[in-house]
Amino acid sequence: MRILITGAAGFLGSHLTDRFLSEGHQVIGLDNFITGNRDNIAHLAGNPSFALMEQDVSTYISVSEPLDFVLHFASPASPSKTSPLGYPNLPIQTMKAGALGTHNSLGLAKKHNAKFLLASTSEVYGDPLVHPQTEDYWGNCDPVGVRSVYDEAKRFAEALTMAYHNFHSVDTRIVRIFNTFGPRMRLDDGRSVPNFIQQALRKEPLTIYGTGEQTRSFCYVDDLIEGIHRLMDSDEHMPVNIGNPLEVSINDFARLINEICENPAGLNVNASERLGDDPERRQPDITRAKTILGWHPVVSIREGLSKTIEYFKSKLGQQKA
Ligand code: UDP
Repeated sequence: MRILITGAAGFLGSHLTDRFLSEGHQVIGLDNFITGNRDNIAHLAGNPSFALMEQDVSTYISVSEPLDFVLHFASPASPSKTSPLGYPNLPIQTMKAGALGTHNSLGLAKKHNAKFLLASTSEVYGDPLVHPQTEDYWGNCDPVGVRSVYDEAKRFAEALTMAYHNFHSVDTRIVRIFNTFGPRMRLDDGRSVPNFIQQALRKEPLTIYGTGEQTRSFCYVDDLIEGIHRLMDSDEHMPVNIGNPLEVSINDFARLINEICENPAGLNVNASERLGDDPERRQPDITRAKTILGWHPVVSIREGLSKTIEYFKSKLGQQKA
């Protein structure tokens, strides 16, 4: 296949790119490097099966070669207000990537008669009132809240994907991605995983926003990539949750990172207030993924964290050198 992936230099986009290349596919990777990282695709320089299009996904995408699959992964994804990479600091770009970027990517798929996959998010459920979250839950989102630039763009993206499927018969898929971690996450995107690991490696207390009793469910990247791959191979057009159903409090998650990093400094609970609309609980119901795709995560959080910590150590070592 020839596959075009938007956000190819991002955390997930670059892992998918590697997977496709390892299977002998041709990949066209599109990225404008607002939040994507050149290091994530540096190893692909000179690979004849990979071509980079340095472009903003919200402008018209023109490809002359035939395409078999288009995957739309380009978007800022961190809710951090303090990092310049967080979507609260890139509000217009985030909305354009989710709205115009999805329109352009779908138009490209339609023109080439290619299949299409949208990277959606657990954020479409907002601060959920149903727990765990099933795909038929409509969500609890504030259209003008701090997270709305991301949530509403992704909700629009899902609606547009279904419109292209129903009206233009584009062969589409929608994955709702829950919290994912692993090598190639940006060290500076302000999210819990990079913040905690760097603090633990520096032997500092981990900054817990609020009481830390809020929960998340963290999935290791290899598991997520496998789930997306299976969804691509399926005929499922309705959204499918992919994530690890193991729900943990942020405090317990932070303690585990301290334990693996042998950091005695503990937690700094209430280090600052939680972001507005920070979901209280988040846990995917993965019944659909299990039933339709035969997928469930296999990497333990501890094992995934150990690999991620090794990656962060090597990155921080490179920065010092
Ligand atoms: N969080 C925290 N300390 C940090 C960064 C994040 O306590 O340094 C909390 C944040 O308030 C949220 C949870 O960790 O409740 C997960 O945040 P993350 O940034 O990973 O992304 P989210 O799941 O909110 O999209």
